[in-house]
Amino acid sequence: MGPEGQTRLAAARVAIVGCGATGSALASLLARAGVGYLRIIDRDYVEPSNLQRQMLFDESDAAESLPKAIAAARRIRGFNSQIVVEPHATDLVPDNAADLLGNVQLILDGTDNFETRYLINDYAVSEKLPWIYAAGVGSYAVTMNVLPGETACLACIFPDSPKAMVETCDTSGILNSAVNLVASIATTEAMKLIVGARNQLRRTLLSYDVWSNEHAQVSTARPRDGCRACQQRDFVHLEGEGRPPISMCGRNSVQIHERQRPIDFDEITRRLTPHGTVKHNEFVLKFWHDPYELTLFPDGRAIIKGTNDPAIARSLYARYVGA
Ligand SMILES: [Zn+2]
Repeated sequence: MGPEGQTRLAAARVAIVGCGATGSALASLLARAGVGYLRIIDRDYVEPSNLQRQMLFDESDAAESLPKAIAAARRIRGFNSQIVVEPHATDLVPDNAADLLGNVQLILDGTDNFETRYLINDYAVSEKLPWIYAAGVGSYAVTMNVLPGETACLACIFPDSPKAMVETCDTSGILNSAVNLVASIATTEAMKLIVGARNQLRRTLLSYDVWSNEHAQVSTARPRDGCRACQQRDFVHLEGEGRPPISMCGRNSVQIHERQRPIDFDEITRRLTPHGTVKHNEFVLKFWHDPYELTLFPDGRAIIKGTNDPAIARSLYARYVGA
C-alpha cells in the first residue's frame, strides 16, 4: 500500500454492524491495520460461550456481562490508541439507521441476521455507500461486496432471506476458522476500497466451506433487473417501523425494544431485589428470576433469556421493568 495507502487508511471512517465473531475479527484486523475511525454497533453482551470464536473478548468481559461494543472498544484501545473507536451498545433499527450508519465511507457486516442486513442494504443503496456482506454458519462462509451503482446488491441476490442460513444458525454453531476466513477476505476488500484499488475488488458472491473444501463464486457484476432495492428504489426495510420483539440467534432468548424508556439502574435494582438476584454496572443490569435471566440496557432495551416466546418475554418485561 505504501505511505499513501497508509495515509488513506488513517483517514478512513468505517462502521461495523455487529461485533460477535465476524465483527470482532473485522474490527481487530482494521484497527491493527491503522484504519483511523471505527464505529462499532452491537446490541448484545459478552457471555462465556462466545469466547470460542469472538476474539476481542476474554473471561473478565463475560464475567461482567459487558456490552460487546464497549468491550471491543476497550480491547482495541489497548493495542492501537492512535485510532478513534466509537462504540454503540444498541440495536440498529430503521429509526436510528441514519445516525448510526451516516458519516462513514464504508459499512461492514458483522451481524447474524438478514433483517439487519436488509436494513444495511437499503441504507447503503439509498446513500450510494459501499458495504460488505459477510456471514458464516457451521464450516461455511460467504461474502460479497456491494458497490451501489455498479454491482448487484444483497436484495438482487437474495430477494428473500435464505431459509437455510436462518434455520441452521441456531443448531449448528460456527467453526471459528470459518469466521476468521470470511472476515479476512472482507477486511482485504475493505482495504482495497479505502486505498482506492477499485479494479482489484471482487465482483462475486464467494462461498467457502473450510471443512469440505468446496468453494464457489457467482457473479455479482450486474444488478438484477427489477431488484426492489437498487432498481425500484423501494426501501421497505429502511422505512419499517414498530418492529416486533426478535428471537435472537443461537440462544433461547428474546429481545424487547423499548427505545423511549431511559432506565435508572439504582432505582430498578431496589425494586427488583425482593424478586430475585440483581446486579448492574455502568452499562448493563442483570436480573435472575428462575428460569429467566433478564438483561437490561440503559435505553430500556432488554434481552430475556430462558424463553423463545415473545409473549412470555413481553409479560416478564411488563412485570419487572414496566408496561
Ligand atoms: Zn439490487
